[in-house]
Amino acid sequence: MANFKTCKECGKTLYADDIAIHRKLINRGADEFFCIDCLAVKLGCTRADIERLIEYYRSTGRCTLFV
Ligand SMILES: [Zn+2]
Repeated sequence: MANFKTCKECGKTLYADDIAIHRKLINRGADEFFCIDCLAVKLGCTRADIERLIEYYRSTGRCTLFV
């Protein structure tokens, strides 16, 4: 990825996983993203829930967003 993305909500620098899970949960074609913390607030769950989801999608190996 050429340039750094930052969270639309809090301005934190985003990592590939943050962007991938946002695409997965919110909008695959998104070009603005939330970090895991802000995503958890939006979805009404916890950061740990989202981290578990990331692990899950990665472990399935079926989602091309997680490599
Ligand atoms: Zn954020």
